[in-house]
Amino acid sequence: MSCDLFQLATQGVQGLQPYQPGKPLEELEREYGIKDAIKLASNENPLGISPKVATALQEALPQLNFYPDGNGFRLKQGLAEKDGVSPNMITLGNGSNDVLELIARAFATSAHSIVFSQHAFAVYPIVTQAIGATAIKTPALNWGHDLNAMLAAIREDTRIVFIANPNNPTGTCLDKTELKAFLAAVPDNALVVMDEAYFEFVDDPNYPNSIEWINEHPNLIVCRTFSKAYGLAGLRVGYSVSHPDVSNILNRVRQPFNVNSLALLAAEVALTDKDFLQRSIAVNKEGLTQVSAQLEALGIGYIPSVGNFIAVDVGQPAAPIYEGLLRKGVIVRPVAAYEMPNHLRVSIGLSHENARFIEALKQVLGR
Ligand SMILES: *Cc1c(COP(=O)(O)O)cnc(C)c1O
Repeated sequence: MSCDLFQLATQGVQGLQPYQPGKPLEELEREYGIKDAIKLASNENPLGISPKVATALQEALPQLNFYPDGNGFRLKQGLAEKDGVSPNMITLGNGSNDVLELIARAFATSAHSIVFSQHAFAVYPIVTQAIGATAIKTPALNWGHDLNAMLAAIREDTRIVFIANPNNPTGTCLDKTELKAFLAAVPDNALVVMDEAYFEFVDDPNYPNSIEWINEHPNLIVCRTFSKAYGLAGLRVGYSVSHPDVSNILNRVRQPFNVNSLALLAAEVALTDKDFLQRSIAVNKEGLTQVSAQLEALGIGYIPSVGNFIAVDVGQPAAPIYEGLLRKGVIVRPVAAYEMPNHLRVSIGLSHENARFIEALKQVLGR
């Protein structure tokens, strides 16, 4: 019976593999009986949430009987001010994953193709496959995106090019000059989606604020999120900035209340807590330095990262190493599904968490 039902699903959906999230702490504790485990698996904020946000959420609980503001008026005002754009350029999503999917559904069908890079964020192949579009995956260059290969891969039926900058899980990033040249060369039939989930963490002067390019390149859509530096992964809120004609289209496919009222409020308040944001960025910067230096000292390979995570090259199939770390109460992320079978992605935590990861890795690798 279940087999017949499976045949009813669209061909694209039949070929889908569900997204593999990081293992929740509770699950590790349940399955392995480990009590004091730490999770460095989903690029979450190790500082928790802003205290300002926590207070605002408490106060908002009695109003949960009301539907959210379906237009997200106040959050869009805050974002418009922060990003120097007009509110009609903003599309809110239940996480930026929601926006990525809206873009795919609004602009592509099984008659179209979507271009993305090898080792790029797993959601791109998933949304492509879900709508039955053709995936064109270009080979990576030094673990990052090869923009020349991506440009060459764009066909007449290409509607979307996904670029993760920085990329997850490799932590690589593209600079202003190469991206500008790429945008200038992309044909009009393709939208370029610049997925900047880790924007706030990057302090490289050659890293662009691509929102400034939307006027010149109306086919550019920039996606950002509150899940990482703002620490709101559990509430699910992200957004895109685009030409108003694009956001108008995205608004038509969007569910009327896709962002819940607590998420809207939390994001709005999070924008006002600059201190929390700065601390998140500072803690990450220190942690990145700490983990990179320790890996280097141990002679363990890694891909230099500008995000809040590092892809560590364990020099052998990573699955047993992942298991070994789990048994020591450290959850990291296997990335074999990203064609990186010898790497593990570890999120940057607080200093003592980073140290615990390094110590566990040392023991598991026998260094
Ligand atoms: C984490 C992440 C996102 C954001 O996901 P949300 O749905 O906003 O939580 C988007 N793109 C990339 C590359 C990411 O790593």
